[in-house]
Amino acid sequence: MADTPKYDVAIIGSGPGGYVAAIRAGQLGLKTLVVEKDDRLGGTCLLVGCIPTKDLLLNADVYDYFKNAKEFGIVCKEFSLDWTAVQARKTKVVTRLVKGVEFLLKKNKVETIQGYGRWAGPSRITVTDAKGQQREVEAAKIVLATGSEAKTFPGFEPDGKTVLTNKEILALTAVPKSLAIMGAGAVGVEFASIFQRFGTKVTILEMLPRALPLEDEEISTELEKSFRRQGIALETQAKVEKAEKTAGGVAVSFSKPDGKTQSMEAETLLVAVGRSPNTRDVGLEKTRVKLERGFVKVDAYMQTDEPGVYAIGDMVANSPLLAHVASRQGIVAVTHAAGKPVEPVNYGQIPNCTYCEPEVSSVGMTERQAREAGHNVRVGKFPFAGNSKATILGAREGFVKIVSDEKYGEILGVHMIGPRVTEMIAEAVVAMRLEGTVEDLVYAIHPHPTLTEAVTEAAHAAHDWAIHI
Ligand SMILES: Cc1cc2nc3c(=O)[nH]c(=O)nc-3n(C[C@H](O)[C@H](O)[C@H](O)COP(=O)(O)OP(=O)(O)OC[C@H]3O[C@@H](n4cnc5c(N)ncnc54)[C@H](O)[C@@H]3O)c2cc1C
Repeated sequence: MADTPKYDVAIIGSGPGGYVAAIRAGQLGLKTLVVEKDDRLGGTCLLVGCIPTKDLLLNADVYDYFKNAKEFGIVCKEFSLDWTAVQARKTKVVTRLVKGVEFLLKKNKVETIQGYGRWAGPSRITVTDAKGQQREVEAAKIVLATGSEAKTFPGFEPDGKTVLTNKEILALTAVPKSLAIMGAGAVGVEFASIFQRFGTKVTILEMLPRALPLEDEEISTELEKSFRRQGIALETQAKVEKAEKTAGGVAVSFSKPDGKTQSMEAETLLVAVGRSPNTRDVGLEKTRVKLERGFVKVDAYMQTDEPGVYAIGDMVANSPLLAHVASRQGIVAVTHAAGKPVEPVNYGQIPNCTYCEPEVSSVGMTERQAREAGHNVRVGKFPFAGNSKATILGAREGFVKIVSDEKYGEILGVHMIGPRVTEMIAEAVVAMRLEGTVEDLVYAIHPHPTLTEAVTEAAHAAHDWAIHI
């Protein structure tokens, strides 16, 4: 095996987990290889996830501004949506960021190979290219970062036309007249916000009792109210049973808790019911790696049970499926692999953002979780209706809610719904990271007029002292 290339670390997958891990490994001086099966780097996040959806959401915002131009004193008689141009901008944004990843990997002397990677034995992986040619690579440490795919079910297989996942919906050649969305999680509600504002009649079918079921209950209630006001139909406790192709698209039947079955028709159906980890065909069956419902079990440093093999990102068990989590785990894994000290991921302080309209963000415990954990909970809540910047923006919906422990004012969780709250949540993350209290948020002076004043007002509200309400 004299000519087998040797690396300090080989990373399988170039999503936000894999490519960030590779950059840090390069910075640490490790000879690093990234193996990526696709012809472009960046993974789900960059190609068919975070980035293209947020680009489309921005297009929808701009379109909304045009629709409401009169409110801002602008006469705009003729405007229309050019879907081809919308898609072209999305492609341009994605391409620029893919090039950025390529540049950063090169800058950090990371080598890349296009091909399908599999664990092949201790410190060995095989890479199979598109023509089926296989080569072997040696690496002292291996990082699995193969991510996830949209979950699908028999009878709901994506066909690119009527039954879609996040991938196919991003490639539609026209805006559908109607769209049924299965699942009111982050992916479902974001696509609802995109297409409803582009003129699609949107119906969301959610099996659980509320939209965004992992968020604080008050946030779900506020979002549902807003969606219905905007004209998005939302059926909760609706278990989708069947999807059948029809002349006009797809007929979807769903059952309600009373056992009755209802059905609806739409031109398209988006299946947004979660993700399956890419752990099936990467050679794990020959390893000591343990799986939990298909996801890889790891320790605090992202080590699997197979010596020298790490796993990061969407494929990891009991870890939120988020790009920033994958990236942080990647840094933890390679820093540990390099034998350097590193702090494990703190899963209690991970920001969750959903970029629907209105936006939702949170960190830490919901009010219910805090009470169930035995805290003496004190809540401070402030509505954007009392915030001057929100009024200027014409976006007065929503609120900031701080969940704290009464004794010392420890911040247990912060929950936001409203304008640009996905940008604002970082303040709460930093406050929690620094073990800040509600009083710290009261005394930290926030600039006026900004949306962030709603955070300090919510902190004041924890003592019933909010000023602008
Ligand atoms: C529609 C949508 C919107 C989203 N929006 C957000 C958001 O706004 N913010 C957020 O934080 N998260 C968002 N996410 C989640 C985010 O995309 C994922 O959490 C993130 O991409 C996970 O990163 P990863 O590196 O683990 O895996 P991935 O990004 O899935 O990357 C895995 C890579 O591994 C490659 N691969 C797989 N198997 C092999 C193999 N055997 N050999 C070689 N290569 C392989 C794949 O081709 C892929 O490039 C969104 C997801 C979706 C679907």
